Amino acid sequence: MNIIENFLNIKKELEALNYKNNLIVVSKNQSLENIIPLIETGHCDFGENRIQEAADKWTDIISNNKDINLHFLGKLQSNKAKEAYKIFNYIHSLDNEKLAKIFSDLEFNHNKKLKYFIQVNIGNEQQKNGIDKKLVTNFLNYCKIELKLNIIGLMCIPPMHENAKNFFLELKKMAIINNLSELSMGMSEDFKEAINCGATHIRIGSAIFGKRSN
Ligand SMILES: *Cc1c(COP(=O)(O)O)cnc(C)c1O
Repeated sequence: MNIIENFLNIKKELEALNYKNNLIVVSKNQSLENIIPLIETGHCDFGENRIQEAADKWTDIISNNKDINLHFLGKLQSNKAKEAYKIFNYIHSLDNEKLAKIFSDLEFNHNKKLKYFIQVNIGNEQQKNGIDKKLVTNFLNYCKIELKLNIIGLMCIPPMHENAKNFFLELKKMAIINNLSELSMGMSEDFKEAINCGATHIRIGSAIFGKRSN
């Protein structure tokens, strides 16, 4: 399994699709040994879904390399928000007022603004993270107007084993209605579909690093 080769193949595929937007390499569960060669090719955008793991892996790297952008992709507990704020540049999983308020207070007290995606529970799934579709506009207004957070777009993870396309198109429509330009959608299995539907931030892990054991 050659990680760099996989990465370059993905880049080629993206080029063939004329996709010039953001590729987030999802490096969760990966050791630095696997990640550093990608940084050395000049890649700067990486996604993680656990705060402690991300802090352990990335704290030194980001203090030496200001070009790196870290994207938080997972469920974020309120008591981890402060730690997340320190190391991440993007939060893709903002989905509740309590968390939004904590970030707003952190931004008010420190000199660092993050960029946020609101995660939408696009398939109305019981166990899924993300805000209810009906609440998106209200939540967005709260985040933007009251909290002054820089909400740049919407994010979703479509239900497994269903055709992702309709969910991607629905998220796109919601973004347009809400005047948001960015769409974080598409993973290893469905990024081409996501790009066809207007994705601006695709998040790819296993197609680069190989299948995870967990
Ligand atoms: C793990 C993960 C990805 C990457 O998934 P792959 O199928 O490995 O490409 C993307 N987005 C989120 C939110 C993830 O948790």
